[in-house]
Amino acid sequence: MNHPVFIVGPCAAESEEQVLATAHEIVRVLPNRRVIFRAGVWKPRTSPDTFQGIGEPALAWLLRVRQETGLPIATEVATSEHIRAALAVGIDYVWLGARTTANPILVQQLADTLASTPHPTLQAVLVKNPVNNDPQLWLGDIVRLEQTGVPVMAIHRGCNHRPCWSMAHWLHTLRPDIPLLLDPSHLGGVADRVAPLMQQAESLCFDGAMIETHIFPHKALSDAKQQLTPAQLAEVLRAYPLSHATDEQLELRWLRAEIDELDDELWATIANRMEISSRIGQWKQANGMPALQQSRFDEILSRRLVWAHEQGLSAEMVENIFREIHRESLARQCPLSD
Ligand code: PEP
Ligand code: MN
Repeated sequence: MNHPVFIVGPCAAESEEQVLATAHEIVRVLPNRRVIFRAGVWKPRTSPDTFQGIGEPALAWLLRVRQETGLPIATEVATSEHIRAALAVGIDYVWLGARTTANPILVQQLADTLASTPHPTLQAVLVKNPVNNDPQLWLGDIVRLEQTGVPVMAIHRGCNHRPCWSMAHWLHTLRPDIPLLLDPSHLGGVADRVAPLMQQAESLCFDGAMIETHIFPHKALSDAKQQLTPAQLAEVLRAYPLSHATDEQLELRWLRAEIDELDDELWATIANRMEISSRIGQWKQANGMPALQQSRFDEILSRRLVWAHEQGLSAEMVENIFREIHRESLARQCPLSD
């Protein structure tokens, strides 16, 4: 395998012109990068009222990309029919999306189809993490596909536009032999987050990335907000030599990524709590109830202290933090009394 691996191209194949124009422009702006060209032919979309992909006829457009540019081609498969159709045209790579990898029965079915269908051109199967933060399920998917004998790579695409670094770290520690790629497009959900996420991928020594790229992102029929132009892609990849870090240094970087992620969640939860607290304040005002309900505060604090003891957390720290949060809540509930 050539390191790093970059899989780039539009979220979906929308028309022959769009696919070819995107591929040619990628080759023009990245003359010295070996990349794999991606485009979704069957799109697993949340709403049935949105673009669902062109289906099998779009495979011919990918073949034309390979013929004209020499780029290997990749598409997503979610059913046995998709696998048979993609293999029949001689696809180079297939990937399983996050909605597919959440279903082990389906993944086993796809692995069985792969094993029983000739696949002379297939270089590897890429396995995205499931939509839910379930590392064991991701590993199970990978093992099912490994049993087909086709090389497997893993793609970390996060959950709900948030990273799950602990899941990626866990997989990488357990199976360092499996190339690990980042999908900053689906992880971030917006084009502006791709560059910072790629810096993080670089610092964590990911083996490459899958990055959605469209000739005219604003006109894309799916995931328009997160796709880069080929020029933006070239800029992001320009700064991606694989960084060299010892395993020890890397371990600290992973742990720091996990801490940063937890801090993001912690502060988002506190902000959310304040928002609900303000709504409680409005209710109290409308119903003539004073903001401070001492008995309620005493009750939730004592419950929290029992919980802190069970968790092995210092009672003093928990009480201090809780009192501070409560003080801020009260200030929001009666802003004029301060
Ligand atoms: C995709 O890569 O186009 C896709 C649908 O990704 P995910 O399964 O990660 O949502
Ligand atoms: Mn997409």
